[in-house]
Amino acid sequence: MIDLRSDTVTKPSPEMREAMAHADVGDDVYGEDPTVNRLEQMAAELLGKDAGLFVPSGVMGNQLSIRLHTRPGDEVIVESSSHIIRYEGGSASSLSGVQLTCISGMRGILAAEDVKAVIRQPDIHTPPTTLLCLEQTHNCGGGTVYPLSTIHELTDVARSNGLALHLDGARLFNAVAATGISAADYASPFDTVSFCLSKALGAPVGSLIVSDDTRIAKLRRLRKIFGGGMRQAGILAAAGIYALEHHVARLTEDHQHAKRLSHLLSKIHGVQCSPDDVETNMVLFQVDGKLGTTDELLSHCREAGVLLNSVGDRSFRVVTHLDVSAEDIESAGRMFAKAFSST
Ligand SMILES: *Cc1c(COP(=O)(O)O)cnc(C)c1O
Repeated sequence: MIDLRSDTVTKPSPEMREAMAHADVGDDVYGEDPTVNRLEQMAAELLGKDAGLFVPSGVMGNQLSIRLHTRPGDEVIVESSSHIIRYEGGSASSLSGVQLTCISGMRGILAAEDVKAVIRQPDIHTPPTTLLCLEQTHNCGGGTVYPLSTIHELTDVARSNGLALHLDGARLFNAVAATGISAADYASPFDTVSFCLSKALGAPVGSLIVSDDTRIAKLRRLRKIFGGGMRQAGILAAAGIYALEHHVARLTEDHQHAKRLSHLLSKIHGVQCSPDDVETNMVLFQVDGKLGTTDELLSHCREAGVLLNSVGDRSFRVVTHLDVSAEDIESAGRMFAKAFSST
């Protein structure tokens, strides 16, 4: 089975498991796990910030950051199809008591004038707008890269209105691989940045938040309150260190695979897919209604030997990753052609 549902499905390689098995550990709640400390320092250096914090998931990275930057009743600006809106179980409102204002972007990318238009001016009637969250790369946009110039336009507007800035950089390193712009340059305008080790970087568990020393100290306390304090987490951090050392440079391979697959998909009769829109490791496509319902199409693919996710009515997403080879991509192309044949 070729699993293209997400880049979260990767399994640790024997070499990564080896690194995990030999990790030096301690109690990280006491700050005594040398491997966690090393990972946090590595992340901070890579992203050009003072310090890092290892957290169990990307959702926790976002939610601790939202809690840090806001007070109950505040308003947070997010993109309408962002992960925070769609896939975090309403946690920003339940855990931080904030109101989310959504603005739609072009394939997930917001425009500065649209953000400016919704920032509220102080008034006893209005919720104070205190935070802007961006997503790099944009998942539902199809792995879209936020251009650095657009980030600067948005963060300038936010700053001049006193907003804090958080980057959900779950796939930040895919943007780095796609553009050659450094993670530090992308992270620089933000107060907090989170990124996932458990996505394209191929680690089994974990995300990091990076920021300045004062904010990381507060986030460390919030992580404990949210139940994310881990003990001998160096076993997991070792996988993260391995991933940062060995799996960053290879991300361009995933991007080439996604591009190749988008070309194969675009040639299948009844499939609408634009290879030009493929910027990183995701491909979005639509299938003609005559070929079946969404569920039927998904099960045809499964029968043909390939797994993928639906993201709407007859709309699908495939994601390339570490555990998918160039040959797998050619096979997947043939499997999709079979699954989407009208006979
Ligand atoms: C996957 C993802 C997250 C975090 O998800 P977890 O499953 O909690 O690790 C956050 N933001 C984006 C954009 C994501 O794709």
